[in-house]
Amino acid sequence: MGKKKRVLVKFSGEALAGESGFGIDNSILKYIAGEIKELVCNEFEVGIVIGGGNIIRGVSAARDGIIKRTSGDHMGMLSTVINSIAMREALEHLGVSVRVQSAIKMEAICETFIMGRAQRHLEKGRVVIFAAGTGNPFFTTDTAATLRAIEIEADVIIKATKVDGVYDKDPKKYNDAVLLPELTYKQGLDDRIKVMDDTSIALAQDNKLPIIVCNMFKQGNLLKIVNDDEDAVYSIVK
Ligand code: UDP
Repeated sequence: MGKKKRVLVKFSGEALAGESGFGIDNSILKYIAGEIKELVCNEFEVGIVIGGGNIIRGVSAARDGIIKRTSGDHMGMLSTVINSIAMREALEHLGVSVRVQSAIKMEAICETFIMGRAQRHLEKGRVVIFAAGTGNPFFTTDTAATLRAIEIEADVIIKATKVDGVYDKDPKKYNDAVLLPELTYKQGLDDRIKVMDDTSIALAQDNKLPIIVCNMFKQGNLLKIVNDDEDAVYSIVK
């Protein structure tokens, strides 16, 4: 893969919730902040996008027709701001310099997304957390992450999950399932695999942005991946 310099790490809101499936588990927050700190300490420039599924997803909020889908999506985007503020605190607690930039203006809480400003923060070694998705309903935080990765000219987007990568068949059902080290964008779009939603993958493909899928709960794996370490575990879509 070759060593990377600037990376965008995306993880879902659910990852922050831990066992309970809702809200934020501070021990997980601390663990993830520690993994991100490792990247910063090794001179990588890091952008982060966090989902909001641990609090509200637009589709679920709008499921019985009381809340409109667009309002549900606004609520979803605000959930990502909550998660981003929590992550900012956890990183600062570890001494990492960090800024939150929101796609929706909320100046009492954080900066508004300005591409050039984000670039400068990154150059100065600050982590930038991109909050509030794309700022538009009907999109996902995977799309927001891909968009921001392209805008900041990241070398790669890392979709950090609870699984090691993409397998040839469901590893929960088949114990001979094999991790696929490399996939094409077309394979990544396959319904069974679907590393991200179609919009994100199309955007990544059009802009030749490689997507890495990996397990963020394997300690040290993120750093191994960006360092192009031999025993790094991941799948790459490119
Ligand atoms: N969302 C949105 N526009 C965006 C990104 C997110 O409307 O550009 C809303 C949408 O309702 C989504 C919610 O924010 O369900 C949380 O994001 P997502 O579902 O991607 O979070 P994850 O599943 O990664 O935790």
